[in-house]
Amino acid sequence: MATRRIYICGEPILRKKARRVRQVDGELIELLDDMAKTMREAPGIGLAAPQVGESVRAIVVGEVGDDDEDMVIHKLINPRIVEAEGEVEGGEGCLSLPTLQGIVLRPQQVVVEALGPDEEPVSIEAEGWTARALCHEIDHLNGKLFIDRAERDSLAWMIPDEDDESGYRLQSVSLAEALAMFQRLVEKAGAEN
Ligand code: ZN
Repeated sequence: MATRRIYICGEPILRKKARRVRQVDGELIELLDDMAKTMREAPGIGLAAPQVGESVRAIVVGEVGDDDEDMVIHKLINPRIVEAEGEVEGGEGCLSLPTLQGIVLRPQQVVVEALGPDEEPVSIEAEGWTARALCHEIDHLNGKLFIDRAERDSLAWMIPDEDDESGYRLQSVSLAEALAMFQRLVEKAGAEN
């Protein structure tokens, strides 16, 4: 297992519709394992294949159990939302848009069907944060980012702040400012390659 580079908003692959997986092979299993490792180390609670540069319909989503230690990681191939119920607002962020947060309206509950790495069909009933993460990651497979759905006035950066208990404070940012910042990060990454 290896960690992979996380692509940043502004890189074209994040805006492409990812292709359906037709055959589960060793390469795909390795991709899912690498995505799980990359997500854990980031750390994050979800990651979609386009975020590590592979335009295929595969996601990983971590579900935190009652004791915080055990994060179950769902590895899902060709996931799709087959049922959605209710609506809830919540704060959201993304490893491809580092330190940015925004308020996004998502379903309260979803049922997601997919294939597992063993090629067996799986059905996941989720609510709250896990439902939100599943919707967010499936959006990535369709080239959608949370900024497309976030309430415009809700976007904010996390700025390090030693005086705050959490170690950071939130500072409002416009979508244009945020996109310009990510573009600079993309250009910097390109220059280093
Ligand atoms: Zn994301």
